[in-house]
Amino acid sequence: MSCGQIVEKSKLLRIVRNREGIVSLDKTGYAEGRGAYICREPSCIERSYRKNALERSFRAKIKTEDKERVFREISELEGRKGIVASGDGD
Ligand SMILES: [Zn+2]
Repeated sequence: MSCGQIVEKSKLLRIVRNREGIVSLDKTGYAEGRGAYICREPSCIERSYRKNALERSFRAKIKTEDKERVFREISELEGRKGIVASGDGD
């Protein structure tokens, strides 16, 4: 939530980090683990991706593959392609 806007919770995406340090998109809003929120605005999602906002929120290193997976899930959820511009080739 670094965009400075005051947004409703429904407009936020919740990312969780579990005990094993695995991060994932929490589609239900009730997943266990520490949560971090990202504003759904495309520009905010993009900025979070570029600036490693999740690492700052969780104060932990996040593997690139995990980060890319989470943001790919976000792209799919939002029905939007290209947030994670350069794919790693599935
Ligand atoms: Zn925002």
